[in-house]
Amino acid sequence: RPAAMEPVSLPEGLSGSVGEAEAKAFLGENGVPVNRGQIVGTAEQASEAAALLDGPFVVKVVSPDIVHKSDVGGVVLGLETPDDVARAVTRMGASIAQKLPDARIEGFLVQEMRTGKVELLVGARNDPQFGPMIIVGAGGVLVELLRDVAVAMAPVCEKKARSMIESLQIAKLMQGFRGSAELDIDAAAQAVSRISWIVSDIGPRFCELDVNPLLVAEAGKGCVAVDARILLD
Ligand code: ADP
Ligand code: MG
Repeated sequence: RPAAMEPVSLPEGLSGSVGEAEAKAFLGENGVPVNRGQIVGTAEQASEAAALLDGPFVVKVVSPDIVHKSDVGGVVLGLETPDDVARAVTRMGASIAQKLPDARIEGFLVQEMRTGKVELLVGARNDPQFGPMIIVGAGGVLVELLRDVAVAMAPVCEKKARSMIESLQIAKLMQGFRGSAELDIDAAAQAVSRISWIVSDIGPRFCELDVNPLLVAEAGKGCVAVDARILLD
């Protein structure tokens, strides 16, 4: 167990499919770096929320019926001003209502946009035979394309998490390939280890977790989970 990491218990009321905002709040409370954001219901609330955050901003749809938000135009990146955020919410609401008339739209997540040089996927599954397993791989759009993943039984210490990351093809891009900057593998390994302890601590109610992506910045600049989903019993 990483130093200074208390055993994790699930917050009251968390069950079933836990969406991005709640999942990241839970991960953030347990030491995984996450970006700041707020769920809003209207365009006006969206610009007010943005005014309290640091730009640039991102708007995402919040719907129990939409798992892959960007597939349906439910993610807009790079919004510069609170007014841009308000307009994005209005447009997104209209276009999703038209494309998916049956989808329940619970609101919109206004959040801070962050940068990273590499996107990792950090996943976990509760295997009926082996218990919680932790998965690290090339994230974002590369997931399906490359199938560049490492799997281990959870929990894993930071050293093991680091060796999982270093076993990936994408690690070459993180280790200063052809003069590109070295990335913060230490921070990514710490996040992976913490996530592995979190899912192990949850116990039998844990089913699945996906952090995709974990954005990894240059060495010393950390990493941040900008999307997450948890499935509980
Ligand atoms: P999806 O439900 O489609 O997985 P995501 O929330 O992962 O939606 O957003 C899609 C993509 O947009 C991510 O893979 C990432 O590249 C980018 N992205 C999302 N949120 C942020 C953010 N806060 N900062 C920077 N990039 C982001
Ligand atoms: Mg995602």
